[in-house]
Amino acid sequence: MQKLQRISNRIVYLPPYQETDRPILAAVAGEERTLLIDAGNSSSHAQLFLAQLADLQIKGDFLVLTHWHWDHVFGMNDMPMPIFAFEKTQENVIDMQQLSWEDEFLDQRVKEGIEIPFCADAIKKELGNQREIILPAPAVTFDHRMTINLGGLTAIIEHVGGDHSDDSCVIYIPEEKVLFLGDCLYANLYSEKWNYTIEKTQRLIEQIETYDAETFFLSHHEAPMMKKEFQSMLNTLKNAANLTKQTKGDQAAITAEMSKDLQRELNEFEVETIQFFVNGYEG
Ligand SMILES: [Zn+2]
Repeated sequence: MQKLQRISNRIVYLPPYQETDRPILAAVAGEERTLLIDAGNSSSHAQLFLAQLADLQIKGDFLVLTHWHWDHVFGMNDMPMPIFAFEKTQENVIDMQQLSWEDEFLDQRVKEGIEIPFCADAIKKELGNQREIILPAPAVTFDHRMTINLGGLTAIIEHVGGDHSDDSCVIYIPEEKVLFLGDCLYANLYSEKWNYTIEKTQRLIEQIETYDAETFFLSHHEAPMMKKEFQSMLNTLKNAANLTKQTKGDQAAITAEMSKDLQRELNEFEVETIQFFVNGYEG
């Protein structure tokens, strides 16, 4: 079972759980108000988070969604506070209200290519027989950017988009130099081949680099990254994007060039990143 972790006296998070694709959930507590980040992938995920917050006498006043994907929103109905979302996220959540999550419907959508096998499996595992999902429409929507005063602490929520999901938002806490990235840096998984595209990645990274942060949360990474590790991840993405452009998506050439630059064999993340850029390359 995931246990709440504290990174400072104002920020705690519940680590992700890969087995059923649970993302990180976080609470940012100012002197006046507390903002929760993401609703979790089920009622039990949301309840686990709320119970552990209650043990620390933390009560959320608002909740914000990083994007519309199931694992970030299925716990919404258990969250008693007003929910904020980017306009497009709200639209997607409303569209999802029409869907059924029993095996036959999930399997049908996988067959039609609109659901990912990986997500369908995680949904079945996480929900068991509790397939009734109530998705309330978020109470408040914003267009591009929204700032919340938590009392001595600010949360800046900003739309960044990217390949993973075009409604992706980040949450920046300037006083703590913390940036919550949701899934925005991951590849597009809703595609036949998981992929990154050059332009979207470059634009996204350019925007992310404008935030003065030291601690970075990616929703499915076990622990937050410190600046050096995060910068190295961004560098891999930037290099892979540049080399994909230069070589016109020639996987062998990109691999050879990157390995030569780094003077070592590529690690798993680098190999995978190159693969995703090659998948997304359209000459
Ligand atoms: Zn996602």
